Amino acid sequence: MRIALESLLGIESEQVEKEVFNADVLVLGGGPAGLTTAIYASRSKLKTIVVEEGIAGGQAATTFHMANYPGTPGTIGGKDLVENMISQAKSFGADIHDLKEVFSVNLIRDQKEIITEDAIYRAPVIVIATGAESRRLPVEGEADFRGNGIHYCATCDGAMYQDAENIIVVGGGNSAVEESIFLTKFAKHVTIVHQFDHFQASKTAQEEALANNKISVIWDSEVRSIIGEKHLTGVQIENVKTHEMSAVNANGTFVYIGMQPRTQLFKDQLKINDWGYIEGNDEMRTNIEGVFVAGDVRSKTVRQVATAVGDGAVAAVNAERYLASKNKK
Ligand SMILES: Cc1cc2nc3c(=O)[nH]c(=O)nc-3n(C[C@H](O)[C@H](O)[C@H](O)COP(=O)(O)OP(=O)(O)OC[C@H]3O[C@@H](n4cnc5c(N)ncnc54)[C@H](O)[C@@H]3O)c2cc1C
Repeated sequence: MRIALESLLGIESEQVEKEVFNADVLVLGGGPAGLTTAIYASRSKLKTIVVEEGIAGGQAATTFHMANYPGTPGTIGGKDLVENMISQAKSFGADIHDLKEVFSVNLIRDQKEIITEDAIYRAPVIVIATGAESRRLPVEGEADFRGNGIHYCATCDGAMYQDAENIIVVGGGNSAVEESIFLTKFAKHVTIVHQFDHFQASKTAQEEALANNKISVIWDSEVRSIIGEKHLTGVQIENVKTHEMSAVNANGTFVYIGMQPRTQLFKDQLKINDWGYIEGNDEMRTNIEGVFVAGDVRSKTVRQVATAVGDGAVAAVNAERYLASKNKK
């Protein structure tokens, strides 16, 4: 951050000497997966440091409330849930270093390294838990309406639209088509807006959606802008073949135009699948010894808090076993 600001302002300040932190386990990313790893690892008396580029909590912290995380009185604020995780990890001795811009990560060496602007972190084990993010709807004002008319998770937010007149779903892959069917449980009607004249979803999903009389499809169209002041009331779409613009009224819009795993830093070092996710086995081990992966950044089929914390637990237990076997040698 400092270096980016300096280059923007054309000034150069003194080189900061980097502080060195040694640990048993480094965790990159402080979302539910990383925090759970930290809870398990620090409770096993392993010196654990979580390095987080933003404020710890991850995507879950941005969710107004969560109704499907087990063990709550019914719903829990996403922020409350992750704050509990943060306190629990700290109570066992984990250190959480947030607001750390990570410059590089060295996974190959015996001592793994995370290098930030002002620190070098070293440990024989690293757990990558950098998560994934939905590709955002590329229209102006998207951030202002996110969570309030523009959504990326029907499992999480669909119930907000009980008895809504119309919901728009953007996309044509499996997620878009399957989630459209799911959203008909809540809304009276679902309109899928898709940029092509056919779906990319599985045949079964397509057939089910097209047979559902609560779902209609607008083909060859892309969303160009959001309509609404405080609340979304619809979107403007453009037919990509005729360039005709039209408005579609809706109470909410769910966007499924792909996910973006956050693997930029290590994509040359780790085995990554065709969709950009890190491959890990059922012990969360990657192709490099001492490097584990957990949560949404891992190649898997369900990305939820419950699966992220499960991965975090498995990664920490296997990291501990790995360290024990290494120390025996
Ligand atoms: C709006 C919304 C609503 C949701 N609702 C629900 C719900 O109701 N129920 C449910 O179970 N799930 C829900 N989810 C999904 C859930 O939040 C995720 O599955 C879960 O947070 C994944 O946890 P994670 O730790 O793997 O990744 P994330 O939560 O993505 O956390 C990853 C962390 O890593 C950090 N990071 C990324 N790159 C770097 C880097 N280079 N250096 C340092 N740190 C880095 C990020 O800042 C982030 O804090 C929702 C998601 C969204 C977006």
